[in-house]
Amino acid sequence: MATGHNLDDEAARLLGNVLHWQTDYLDKQTPSLPASLGGFAKKVKPLYRLTEREIAAYAVIHHIDYIVEECPMAKGSKLLAYKHALNRLEADSPGTKQTFYLNFLDRQAKQQETAGKIAEQDRQRLHPCTTCGQPTSANVCSYCQMMAKAKAHV
Ligand SMILES: [Zn+2]
Repeated sequence: MATGHNLDDEAARLLGNVLHWQTDYLDKQTPSLPASLGGFAKKVKPLYRLTEREIAAYAVIHHIDYIVEECPMAKGSKLLAYKHALNRLEADSPGTKQTFYLNFLDRQAKQQETAGKIAEQDRQRLHPCTTCGQPTSANVCSYCQMMAKAKAHV
């Protein structure tokens, strides 16, 4: 499923999530979300690099009718306040929205790459415990070591 979220939407959402340290949401704030186990389709946001103004300008030049009003779902939401704040920053320092959101995506991609490498290293280090068979990096897992010590003290 493709949605029309643009750079303004994504930067405003990122600002809101960062202001409230909603780190769980940060993980999900990518332009492409895989299909969920709950049966939701894969989601993509092909317009995430374009600003509202650029998309509106494109529509005007190509005589494409579009809805000027904000989404009724967004009315009264904090998202609009964040959009206005970002627009003020953008006016003073053009490129702010792009730098804010696209650098976030870059960092996130690097982090995921590093996390993937660490997970792979961990997988390679692990082998079955000689006593119980659970994955461990030692010959005998820490649980079995602890149980062996406890038995020795009885
Ligand atoms: Zn064990």
